[in-house]
Amino acid sequence: MNEKKKTIRVNLNKQPTIICKACKNKYWKPLVKIKVVSPLLSGFGLRTYAMQQYFECINCGSVISIESLDDKGIEIEPYDERVNNGERYKK
Ligand SMILES: [Zn+2]
Repeated sequence: MNEKKKTIRVNLNKQPTIICKACKNKYWKPLVKIKVVSPLLSGFGLRTYAMQQYFECINCGSVISIESLDDKGIEIEPYDERVNNGERYKK
């Protein structure tokens, strides 16, 4: 069997972008929610902590979760050469 690892190179600049449903902004900052897991559930009799990742729209403050990225309700802007060429960060 061929066990060679395949390296897949993806040009992210040509992939769709998640945009904010509320304001159409496409820039986010990461947020973390820290969940407390009870000793009964942690498996080693100690309280433990788990992180959940969220993203906040830098324009309007809407928060989305990592889980919701697979949700059909999220808006995705398809790659468009005309729009994405020479794009600059805007606030
Ligand atoms: Zn927004």
